[in-house]
Amino acid sequence: MHTTAATATDNAAASGLLLLALIVVTLGYLAACWLWPFIACRRCSGTGKRRALIGRAFGLCHRCDGTGRQLRPGRRAINYLRTVRSKDTNR
Ligand SMILES: [Zn+2]
Repeated sequence: MHTTAATATDNAAASGLLLLALIVVTLGYLAACWLWPFIACRRCSGTGKRRALIGRAFGLCHRCDGTGRQLRPGRRAINYLRTVRSKDTNR
């Protein structure tokens, strides 16, 4: 009886620890997205240029508008949450 209770407590502690680790990882990722919001554009690999099929011509990458950078998905989520929250406070 006593051992069963101890095992249950251990499982709760383990899952609690797992949850804590998950929260720490998520917060760390969000902090990284806050500090370094951009990643190199995947289509032009950060150059901002799109090579033409023929010759040495190039155009601006449409995906990043020639900036060569893209918002990280996490940062996009943060921006989305901020706009949602600001809408709520304005109301
Ligand atoms: Zn690009």
